[in-house]
Amino acid sequence: MARKVLVLGEVREGSLRNVSFEALAAAKTISEGGEVVAALLGDAVSSLTNEMISYGADRVITVEDEKLKTYTTDGYKQAFMQVFESEKPEAIVMGHTAMGKDLSPRIAAKLASGLISDVTSIEEVGSEMVFTRPIYSGKAFEKKVVSDKLMFVTIRPNNIAPLEQDSSRTGDVSSISAEIKDLRTIVKEVVRKATDGVDLSEAKVIIAGGRGVKSTEGFEPLKELADVLGGAVGASRGACDADYCDYSLQIGQTGKVVTPDLYIACGISGAIQHLAGMSNSKVIVAINKDPEANIFNVADYGIVGDLFDVVPLLTKEFQNVLQ
Ligand code: FAD
Repeated sequence: MARKVLVLGEVREGSLRNVSFEALAAAKTISEGGEVVAALLGDAVSSLTNEMISYGADRVITVEDEKLKTYTTDGYKQAFMQVFESEKPEAIVMGHTAMGKDLSPRIAAKLASGLISDVTSIEEVGSEMVFTRPIYSGKAFEKKVVSDKLMFVTIRPNNIAPLEQDSSRTGDVSSISAEIKDLRTIVKEVVRKATDGVDLSEAKVIIAGGRGVKSTEGFEPLKELADVLGGAVGASRGACDADYCDYSLQIGQTGKVVTPDLYIACGISGAIQHLAGMSNSKVIVAINKDPEANIFNVADYGIVGDLFDVVPLLTKEFQNVLQ
């Protein structure tokens, strides 16, 4: 059944986040040949419409307003609802990001619809669209179908591959001047705490350090390896609690959930709460002094050794191979 699918593109600091393109690919599957409409909300987003079209949007609707410059729940809810009302789609796709996690339940409540969150894959089985999502902190997966009139899903970043970019694609672009009022929250300023470089939640390669790095300086070899591989540095809560790094790097049940192509865990024991945030990574490499460490149970490749010996060796080898 062909459907009209509305995708929310996610913009950060003037650029589209990769999850927007993944959401377009998900929407293409869900649409079953119907129309994929993208909504872009912000203060200046019209320059991004062609990129959304090149990744699969048939049409793009922009809502530009000074009040949408930074994300607020009220502002984005109002703007998105106005796009929804004008389009009346049969399905909605958003990223399961900090923004999507905040916004999607509110939209679902407003529309009195269901919501399948944190979807990692979508497949057509017979006449049904089947959505797979992890449960119990990634220890199991469930498959769900939608019986509602509206199919509303959020997708986990880095799991659904974007369509190949085609800059020759064309599509309609229009704008809505939304009425945004009675905001209960106004963001005065955004102060970035850490991480210049690659965004942890979208990184293809993550080098993560645990209590085994022993100090803030102990993260330096990990940063060097991350630089060589074009990756980001992450951490266990053990390392954050010990004040070796900022909590914005924490991966796990109470930190970020990541699914990079390559996850290198250095001096991390592999507590269940840490595994909850990274066990769905495509390839896991563990470096640990203790051959009995639990992290080896989820690792594809294990190196028993001192991370301060092993990590610099890896950096040197990758430098040789990649230069
Ligand atoms: P440790 O368990 O102390 O492990 C350090 C490892 O480093 C050891 O295996 C050791 O053999 C190895 N090592 C030491 N020196 C070296 C060396 N030189 N070279 C190589 N290896 C070395 N944890 C998270 O990570 N993320 C979460 O989101 C999270 N949420 C939690 C939520 C709750 C409610 C609770 C109760 C706990 C949570 N935790 C979380 C904490 C979790 O239980 C662990 O305590 C934590 O993950 C341990 O961090 P670690 O592996 O770095 O430290």
